[in-house]
Parts: sequence; structure tokens; C-alpha cells
Amino acid sequence: MRCYPVFLNAAGRRVLISGAGGTASAKLRLVMKLKARIVVYGATPDADVRGWAEAGRITLIERPLQEGDAICAAMLYAANDDAQEDARVAAIGRRAGALVNIVDNLEQSDFITPAMVDRDPVVVAIGTEGAAPVLARRIKQSVEEMLAADLGVLARAGQAFRAEAERAPKGAPRRRFWARYYDEVGPAALAAEGEAGLRPALERLLAETLTITAAPGRVALISAGPGDPEELTLRARRLLHEADVVLHDRLVDPRVLELARREAKFVEVGKTPGGPSWRQSDIEALMIAEARDGAFVARLKSGDAGMFGRLEEELDALDAAGISYEVAPGVTSAAAAAARIGASLTRRGRNASITFITGQDAAGFAEQDWRAAARPGQVTAIYMGLRAARFIQGRLLMHGGASDTPVTAVENASRADERVVSTTLERLPEALEAAGAKGPAILFIGLSPRRALAALDAADPEEIKAMGAL
Ligand code: SAH
Repeated sequence: MRCYPVFLNAAGRRVLISGAGGTASAKLRLVMKLKARIVVYGATPDADVRGWAEAGRITLIERPLQEGDAICAAMLYAANDDAQEDARVAAIGRRAGALVNIVDNLEQSDFITPAMVDRDPVVVAIGTEGAAPVLARRIKQSVEEMLAADLGVLARAGQAFRAEAERAPKGAPRRRFWARYYDEVGPAALAAEGEAGLRPALERLLAETLTITAAPGRVALISAGPGDPEELTLRARRLLHEADVVLHDRLVDPRVLELARREAKFVEVGKTPGGPSWRQSDIEALMIAEARDGAFVARLKSGDAGMFGRLEEELDALDAAGISYEVAPGVTSAAAAAARIGASLTRRGRNASITFITGQDAAGFAEQDWRAAARPGQVTAIYMGLRAARFIQGRLLMHGGASDTPVTAVENASRADERVVSTTLERLPEALEAAGAKGPAILFIGLSPRRALAALDAADPEEIKAMGAL
């Protein structure tokens, strides 16, 4: 970066333009937006310049700029369309300590005038250091489209209310106050009542903020379900929509995150198996810090928050910090996976109980009560079981499991890339490998897909391939 962007405070200062022809008037159109004292020097002013002088918008001095004219000037534009004259006045400006711009001469200028999107007091300046004026114009056009025409009116009313808004507690409540003003309340008031409606709207919003945020921050531990937002509970949806901060696991589906407000702060506190991870203590510390800052924190966990989600550790941390919370239960991935294959988790005469186990724990592949899981008719749902598939197979066979025990893997349950792999205990690792299963997946020991569904699935070439491999 060669040119550093700054906003120069020119209010009440002198800004000089040397030249009074077309080039000068083009610059004047921009510079006249400033609350500065603008002085134009030129022996032969064009009609525009003369008109602005007559209207009192500028001071016109009908002679060339001379030594002494630039004293205490903030900026000087050399806009004479004459390189020699421009160089002469630029030297005068520099000797007087003014910032000098020679129009269309980047090399000899102290500053360049950016492309601007003007929603005063909101101003976006776009510069390419002269490399690509066309690009700058295109960016300007996109930004123009992005920013509502009356953004400046909103911002001015907001600016005038800043001192009062200090009454909203610092941190999240105050941020939320401003976000709601600019996103919802301000535009609505402007549309309904015009500029005069803005101040009363700000006052109402502040009163509301003060009553709501009298309560300290809190945390909702929300079950995000297996993927499809349709599997969310109404409560999870409502809480998510209210959140200021969303801390989510890696497996939480992006479609679910979209249900939070755009202004919410999102942090992925994921743990990738075998990859980079957030430490549990750091997640807890962040959750507590955000709540202490007054935020309503949504701690989103995939599936049901209470199933292999370290929920109670986080509740312990919140209790220790004295922060209030609620837990929103949800659809665990085993429930979604069972629904997908048309199986019930229990069935009279087959299994009166079901066991949920994990294939992995802190120590690696997890040891379980394999003898119980190997019993005929027993149904076990295994989470995090893909990488441990060969280990699980070995343990079950070792404890007397029948080699033809049905095993069904449901990968990415309720997502677009959902797949079912139906096999037997004997062929489990090979079948998973042949199907290229990468997870996340649930393995059901003792369950097979309902026949009618299996036939239906066979209409899908992807699944024919997967099943054919078995
Ligand atoms: N609390 C979650 C489980 C978290 S442990 C729940 O109730 O589902 C992570 C494991 O969940 C994954 O390794 C996988 O076994 C399972 N899982 C999560 N999302 C899944 C999905 N959409 N389809 C299949 N299994 C999933």
C-alpha cells in the first residue's frame, strides 16, 4: 500500500483550487460538499465557477494564485490544465504546508481523491492508487447499490443520539441496540413517519433495551438436530433467532446457522477428529465471557445437545460462573437415522432396550460392554463409529456376536448427501470402505433397513452402487 486512506478534517479550513475552468469545476463539485472555505484562483473563470461564486458557495479571485495565498490552507488542488502552471502553484502550496494534489498527476501529488459513495456522514472512499479507475467506478457502483439512499439520514439521527445511547449497557446490549436501529427500527420509522420519526423511534428502542438488558446475559444450549432445519424444535428455532452470539460445533448444518440473525456473532468452536480443535476449557471460557458481556449466547450442538456433546461439563462451568441457562433438547442423529431406514429404535419382541455408545473416547477406540451388545436381538446405535469399525467388529465377534448380525450405517442423516450402507457384522469394514463412507455416520448393530425402503432406495443409482458393493 503506497497511499494510506484517511479522512481529513477540513471543516472551517481553507481549501484552494488553482484554475477556474472545466477541470477545476469537476473538482469543485466534490470539494463543495465540505464545510470548508473554498477559494478559487483563476483569471478566466467558466460559467459554473462564476455561478457558484455568485451564490456564495466559493470565493473567486480572478487572478493566478500567488506566493502567500496558500498560508494556512489545508489542501490545494492544481487544476490549471497546464503542467507548468500546476508545478508553480504546487510549489507555493508545499512551501505553505498545504497538502497538494495536481489533477491527473499521481506522481507529483501528496494525496489522491478517491471515488466516493456519499451518504454523509457515512462516506465510502475507494482508491486503486491510480491502477484501475474503471475498477474503482465499478466498485463504487456496487457500493451505491448496497447502501440505502437514506442511510445518511439514519446515521445523522443516530449520531445525534449517541450520548443518550450511552445509557444502554456497554458491550452486547449496546451493539444490539444499534444493530436493531440500523437494520429494523430506523428504516421502518423513516418509511412510516420520515426523518421526524427517527428520534422518537430511538427513544422507544432505548427504553426497551434498558428494560430487557436489566437482566444479565444468559446461555441457551440448543440442540441443532442432525442437519435438516426441519428437524429443529420450535423452541430451538426461537432461541437461535434471539441469540446475539452463536457458538457452534463443526457438525452443525449451515442451513441451521442461517436461522440466526445476520447481526449475530458466529464462532465455530469445532473439534475435527484428528484435526485442529478448540479446547473444551476455551469454549467454556468464551461462552462465559460473552454472557458476562450481557449477550444472549446460543451454544449450538449437533443432534441432541445431551448426547455425546459434553453438555454437563458446560453446565458445570456455567453454574460455577453463576450464569443462568436453559437446555433445548432435540433430535439426536440416531433417531434421524432410524427414521431414515424405517426402523424403530425399539420393537416388541425384538429389542426392549437400545444402547447408545460411542466408538471413540478420550483414550481412542472406546471399550464397551461388548458381551451385552453381541447378544442376539440387541440393538446398539454407535456414534463416532466409522474409524473404529474394524475394532468394533473384532470386539463383537470375539464376544460371540453372530457374523450375519445386520449392521446399517446411515451417513449424513437428513442432509443432501445422506447415504445408507446395509451390511452384516462379518463384512462391516469392507462395506464401509467400498462405499467410501467418511461420516458423520451412525452404525446400527442389529438393525436393517425396512425392506420397502430398501427397494425404494434402489431407484437411486448412487445407492444401487453403494448397496451393490455389499
Ligand atoms: N449430539 C450429537 C452427537 C455428537 S457426536 C447427536 O445427538 O447426534 C458426533 C457424532 O454424531 C458423529 O460422529 C456421528 O456419529 C453422529 N452424527 C452427527 N450428525 C450426524 C448425521 N447428520 N448423520 C449421522 N450421524 C451423525
